[in-house]
Amino acid sequence: MQSSEQPVLRDLVLVGGGHSHVGVLRMFAMKPEPGLRITVICTDTDTPYSGMLPGYVAGHYSFDDVHIDLGRLAAATGARLYRDEVIGIDRQNQQVICRHRPPVAYDLLSINIGSTPQVQQIEGAQALAVPVKPIAQFNQRWLQLLVKVREWRGRMTVAVVGGGAGGVELLLAMQYRLRHELKALGRNPEDLNFVLLTASDTLLPTHNSGVRARFVRVLRERNVEVHTGAEVVQVSPGCLHTKNGRTFDADETMWVTQAGGPAWLQSTGLALDAHGFIQVNSQLQTLPDPKIFAAGDIACFSERPLEKAGVFAVRMAKPLASNLRRSLRGQALQPYTPQRRWLALISTGNRYAVASRGPLGFAGGWVWRWKDSIDRQFMRRFNEYAPMAQPRTASLWALLTQAFSAWRAPASGRQGMQLSSEESFQALSAIAMRCGGCGAKVGANILSRALGSLQPVARPDVLIGLHEPDDAAVVKVPAGKAVVQTVDFFRAFIDDPYLFGKVAANHALGDIFAMGGEPQTATAVCTVPPGLEAKVEDLLLQMMGGAVEVLNAAGCSLVGGHTGEGRELALGFAINGLIDEKMAQVMRKGGMQAGDLLVLTKPIGTGTLFAAHARGAARGRWIDGAMQSMLMSNQVGAQILSAYGATACTDLTGFGLLGHLVEMTRPSGVDAELQLSALPLMDGAVECVKAGIVSSLQPANVRLRRALRNAEEFVQDARYPLLFDPQTAGGLLASVPAEQADACVAALQAAGYAHTAIIGRVMAAGQAIEPVVLKT
Ligand SMILES: Cc1cc2nc3c(=O)[nH]c(=O)nc-3n(C[C@H](O)[C@H](O)[C@H](O)COP(=O)(O)OP(=O)(O)OC[C@H]3O[C@@H](n4cnc5c(N)ncnc54)[C@H](O)[C@@H]3O)c2cc1C
Repeated sequence: MQSSEQPVLRDLVLVGGGHSHVGVLRMFAMKPEPGLRITVICTDTDTPYSGMLPGYVAGHYSFDDVHIDLGRLAAATGARLYRDEVIGIDRQNQQVICRHRPPVAYDLLSINIGSTPQVQQIEGAQALAVPVKPIAQFNQRWLQLLVKVREWRGRMTVAVVGGGAGGVELLLAMQYRLRHELKALGRNPEDLNFVLLTASDTLLPTHNSGVRARFVRVLRERNVEVHTGAEVVQVSPGCLHTKNGRTFDADETMWVTQAGGPAWLQSTGLALDAHGFIQVNSQLQTLPDPKIFAAGDIACFSERPLEKAGVFAVRMAKPLASNLRRSLRGQALQPYTPQRRWLALISTGNRYAVASRGPLGFAGGWVWRWKDSIDRQFMRRFNEYAPMAQPRTASLWALLTQAFSAWRAPASGRQGMQLSSEESFQALSAIAMRCGGCGAKVGANILSRALGSLQPVARPDVLIGLHEPDDAAVVKVPAGKAVVQTVDFFRAFIDDPYLFGKVAANHALGDIFAMGGEPQTATAVCTVPPGLEAKVEDLLLQMMGGAVEVLNAAGCSLVGGHTGEGRELALGFAINGLIDEKMAQVMRKGGMQAGDLLVLTKPIGTGTLFAAHARGAARGRWIDGAMQSMLMSNQVGAQILSAYGATACTDLTGFGLLGHLVEMTRPSGVDAELQLSALPLMDGAVECVKAGIVSSLQPANVRLRRALRNAEEFVQDARYPLLFDPQTAGGLLASVPAEQADACVAALQAAGYAHTAIIGRVMAAGQAIEPVVLKT
């Protein structure tokens, strides 16, 4: 979609990765809009497909069978995925407000965040009941319930509140699964009692009488207690209280009732209905704001209220994508006419399903198989694809034509999101620069606006810094201190400038921490691709904002830098640190002692994982895990290692584990033994190297295999290539006296370095030239 060769002209932001937005992503990937960048902001990387959720609960499907991997989908379609929770919209400044990152600017916005059962109005429900949405949280609680049931002794009552299709289907699926669990453990499945409570007078009120009768029969046959007209008004431990004064036992309560929109929508000024859903017109546009669209459960279709069903969310994808595109092009929007009748296939837990459409209804094992094949086919569209890249020349040409015609058009003739003449001029210049591949300095106005809002930590030893910008910074070296200096620079490996800024700063600080130094100041150097001024400014702000957060947390003041235009986004830092001039606390690479144990504080695998990510071949949750690790500072880790008497230390970066280990053994005059099975590995790293995907730096690192004494015994081992995997913001590798090692590892783990492990030992130098011996 948005190739790095193209300047970004417009930002489409998709809030929520629901059923409509996954369809929109696919449609824009198949037919990209030149100059358009798409950003998805979603709380979850794995977005559930509701139609298969009961089958997952019943045990017929795995987690991956029923989830769309938004990370992979976004990577393959060229969109950016920001994993965050949206908590507001600043419509005046066209920004989406997120919980954990700076605001995200949009030109066009679409909301597809589903609905949430309204538990907060029911006393005790928030603390004691499990709402089925958001589904990621439900899944956690469901897995906990599985464990609880396995360990429970005696009778247990599971209650479901809500008698719509969702509630009935979920209850039958849970009952099927939990009874099988008990049977498998040799226990009596009848120990589990199921109760269904619904405020309405009938089950499945939106379905025909035949379908309702079938479910009444199924529930009776399965010994489920059904209570209609039972509106639950209070939940207390082990008990549900209804409006008509009855109480029901409930050791576990699932909440599947009428839902509403989240509270944060109230402050957006968008028109909402009584339940807090966003009112949209027939073109799926929010009523007061034509730049914001909404679809799926969260949208309240003002023409005719629709049932909150995934089937509508899925169907809305096409008209939504089409109207978003039309809006970007300044074309007239088209109305969406929802179907009056739709087919619902409702399962009964035991690979049996009931079909319901208007007055029709039929059931059978074959209906379940039919549903299963429809659902799997739907999922294949999102989980099995080749990366969808756009042909560069064609899209650049389209972009050029678009910018040129916008530049020539009279202001009165422009519609929708079309470029202004000033923007067209900026776009044409950016395209010309890209084609010529020349560099330039970023405009002073952009720089001063973007950098002016940064607030680097103030330090008394910074005499002239960004607070009083000059030709260069002036920094005092306190008495008794010496300066530790380091520099790092690399290209963006993720399409998220804020997180990239954080990782780049963390990576650069790693060298200072590994030496046992205290970071003092940083100067930045970065290149940004040319583009519309507003986009370049936002990019710089996001990237430097992330970096400054990390530098500030380390007490390191950003005192200056240089920004240039380049083909790719890249960022680096020269960092100055302070250390005792007598070098008492310096941790060098060359201090290893025979008998020490090797401690590694973070798992390895970033090289292969991000190579796979670039090809759309890494699971989104693997990338989430790797990002978490890269964002973790080595500051506290270094302090702990120093306190436990580490004799040598380094941070793992581009040369990979083996390269950095050899950098330690050689100056120390020792050999080392590495235990392959003890290496902490990032989730997905082995899968990626097994698939033959390695970083472009790997071949250079592999040359160092001559440092291994017995490589030939291990080359077939799936973990072997990871010895050479280059790391970004990797962990600390240290040699620690053997008698301190266990306590040191425990202290590191307690400090949050959960994957810290002893991965080998240091040995007296042998006669061999190869200093490292591998062990299983
Ligand atoms: C047990 C059960 C079974 C069901 N079975 C069916 C069925 O068989 N067929 C059917 O048609 N319907 C079914 N439904 C209804 C169906 O689940 C919903 O109608 C459907 O999920 C709505 O889709 P959506 O795209 O609007 O939102 P969702 O599928 O809920 O997706 C919303 C997405 O937005 C994200 N999100 C939410 N808030 C934020 C935020 N603030 N910031 C960022 N991201 C956010 C969420 O993480 C999620 O990824 C079932 C419901 C239940 C409870």
